[in-house]
Amino acid sequence: MSQQASCARCQSSEAELVVRAEHLCRECFLKYVATKVLKRLEMGKIRGGFKELQKTLLLPVSFGVSSTTLIHVLDQQLRNRVQQGRHAGYNLHLLFIDQSTVIAHMDIGSYIDLLKQRYPSHCFTFISLEDCSSYGVEFKGLLGSNGGRFQDIVSGMASATSRADFVEIARRRLVVAFAKKHACDGILFGDSTTRLAERTLSETAKGRGIAIPWLTADGSSDGINCIYPMRDLLRKELTAYVGMTTPPLTSLILESSTRTPSSSKDTTVDGLMSQFFESVEANYPSIVANVVRTSGRLVAPSVPEDAQLCSICGQPVFIGSWGGDQQSVTSSQSIDSNGSQIGGARCYGCARIVLKR
Ligand SMILES: [Zn+2]
Repeated sequence: MSQQASCARCQSSEAELVVRAEHLCRECFLKYVATKVLKRLEMGKIRGGFKELQKTLLLPVSFGVSSTTLIHVLDQQLRNRVQQGRHAGYNLHLLFIDQSTVIAHMDIGSYIDLLKQRYPSHCFTFISLEDCSSYGVEFKGLLGSNGGRFQDIVSGMASATSRADFVEIARRRLVVAFAKKHACDGILFGDSTTRLAERTLSETAKGRGIAIPWLTADGSSDGINCIYPMRDLLRKELTAYVGMTTPPLTSLILESSTRTPSSSKDTTVDGLMSQFFESVEANYPSIVANVVRTSGRLVAPSVPEDAQLCSICGQPVFIGSWGGDQQSVTSSQSIDSNGSQIGGARCYGCARIVLKR
């Protein structure tokens, strides 16, 4: 980028970065990100009207660039409305799910303290994946699921892909269960375009392609309104954003770039997809957006009222609509060491990935 380029939008300030071929200054870039987020939120029609009760929206926090940016943009919007004496329309409830019993990471306590200091006006809850059973999230038939610790269920799985897949499923189910228990009106997932593209391809690779509309589209899913307000922003744009706010949000960011595992046995489908899209978005961002746009055209199949739900991921199980070697629901149930069937129905993905030994 030329050092002398002026911002393509305001024409006055010096451009600091190039966003989708446009030279932007810091202020116009911050506005660009906020506009993309708020436009999506409006499209979700999730905000209460002037005469309605304020809605409560659950926002799962991961201390990544995407959910942190989402909190920041919405917090600013709510503050602005209060300053103008206007109805905010919604309250935010921030939720952090601790995964430290199954995924080693740094001490999260200091990040939580920083978040609460910076955004004190929102309700904040901290729960752990070990709390799944107290929220009624069960995984029938999995080794260790009968009153055991979540940690034990995960350690009973054979591959790194299965463990990562299962933790992701459990996390989403726990978010949904929490939202329902606390009567939230919707969930604001912080997934960026890049993350949604990763999920589209990794869920397809893991045999859960039929669930893509439920896992990536705005609208009702698992009986609650799910909105993805960050879906028009690339991860690299959000990485730039967190460094440009005043003060920067970087001290709240836990994750760094995708790490390559030291051993191939620790490589996961999800990890491979992250690495792939990290390289694609650097030079060909339109490909990332295209994956999400294409999957956005998929229409969720209609689910009969008596449809069986997968006992692992909670998505409907469709009999006879699967390709490959999918067998009947009955035979996709797990078999214990005595040869008898345990647990409930399994979808294609959960039968193939979670249970693969
Ligand atoms: Zn499943």
